[in-house]
Amino acid sequence: MLKKCRKLLFFWYNKTMKTILVPVSCPNCGHEAYVKSEQFIIPEFHQKHREAILDGSFFQYRCPVCRTAIECIHDCVYHDHARHLLLILKRQGNEKEIVVETVEPIQRLVRTPLQLRETIRIFEDHFHDVPMSDLKARLLAQFKSRGCRLLSISYHDFDEPNKLLWFEVMNDHQQIDYRAVSLKYYEAARQRTSSIIDDTVLQEVTITNVMKRVNLIKND
Ligand SMILES: [Zn+2]
Repeated sequence: MLKKCRKLLFFWYNKTMKTILVPVSCPNCGHEAYVKSEQFIIPEFHQKHREAILDGSFFQYRCPVCRTAIECIHDCVYHDHARHLLLILKRQGNEKEIVVETVEPIQRLVRTPLQLRETIRIFEDHFHDVPMSDLKARLLAQFKSRGCRLLSISYHDFDEPNKLLWFEVMNDHQQIDYRAVSLKYYEAARQRTSSIIDDTVLQEVTITNVMKRVNLIKND
């Protein structure tokens, strides 16, 4: 029961983590403003917010006109990884919103800012990083067979009207170039990796890790 609940909550915060603007209006002078606040707090990274929650100032705002202290409460999620503690502040009334779907979160370990950027782009464009790694492995092999050595290849963006996936490639002279690949090659990669796409062993998704798993399954 607890596990199921955890999934729901995870899904909810994946959808909502962001800096928000909360509309407030001063009960004393009527001044209206938008207050910037955080909806997703990880104490490990946001000690300042943790302290503000603990000392009660996180949800407080002072009217810039008449200096009245105003409570400015909004829904938020507090996730303390070290203590496995996930707290959701959700006021009574819109409970329905929480129970949307049971979807497992996708957890990834990324090592570089480039990897972080690439993974965000892949999922925002409704692709998946496992088949993407398979596709990248094939592209690397293709480049190699033409005698071109690449230092890196990363997904860049999707040209939807033309069904083309664009990749940023860097050769061994550090020159950056862009290459497009037809969507059908991604779909083929998706087929090839369908059995490992939800593999939790693959927390760190790299070309090497994915190809190891693909080959392991081929040889089974
Ligand atoms: Zn005021």
